[in-house]
Amino acid sequence: MGLFIFVLGTILGSFFNVLVQRTIKEESIVGPFSKCDYCNKRLSFYNMIPLLSYFIQRGKTSCCNKKLPILYPVSEFATGLLFLFIYILEKDLVVGIVVAFLISFLISMSIIDFLTKDIYYIHIFIVLILSVILSRYQFWFFEELLYKAVFVLVFLLLGYLLSIRGYVGFGDIVLIISLNISLNFFETTIFLFLMSLIGGFVGFVLYFKKRDRKVKLAFVPIISSAFILLEILKAILI
Ligand SMILES: [Zn+2]
Repeated sequence: MGLFIFVLGTILGSFFNVLVQRTIKEESIVGPFSKCDYCNKRLSFYNMIPLLSYFIQRGKTSCCNKKLPILYPVSEFATGLLFLFIYILEKDLVVGIVVAFLISFLISMSIIDFLTKDIYYIHIFIVLILSVILSRYQFWFFEELLYKAVFVLVFLLLGYLLSIRGYVGFGDIVLIISLNISLNFFETTIFLFLMSLIGGFVGFVLYFKKRDRKVKLAFVPIISSAFILLEILKAILI
């Protein structure tokens, strides 16, 4: 079972590589077939086996013999490991797979935000669906529903005020709200605390490096690291 989960992780890692590449190049995710980065030749099935293809082809494309980025097998391996770790730590298999999927998806979104300063609503929508799955039954208790409604309203207002002044993108706020759906009140507090800690630290470092007040932060990596850290703490402590 562990091997199956690891292989599943590497396949998804490979898929997330394609997602990042195609989003940055503004190509469609669903079609057309995968092509070589260099000569645009259509890749066949055996060129796209996670990890194995890279090693069989000795790190080169099979069509035009150009060097493949080491980032491909590394991120496939890392995603496989992530899935394996969460499978070992998390007792509930479905929750484990959804958490691992969400974490690798957030990493892809972070890379896209870092490189393009863009956040896509379709990606936030996928995060929202995953969060609703993760929230399970607690979502339907009255107090939880009430506190979540208050949280959503406060953050929408805050996001609106901050985004018209250009401090933060509205998409970033919607992402925070979507992730928060899966968290209870205590976890939310930790989440916001970690986020301000990481955000403050990154802002501080960037300010002293560039001496520029108007440096534009990529918020998705900050939001994602806070959420991932929280999930790691939960997995270890609970
Ligand atoms: Zn090629």
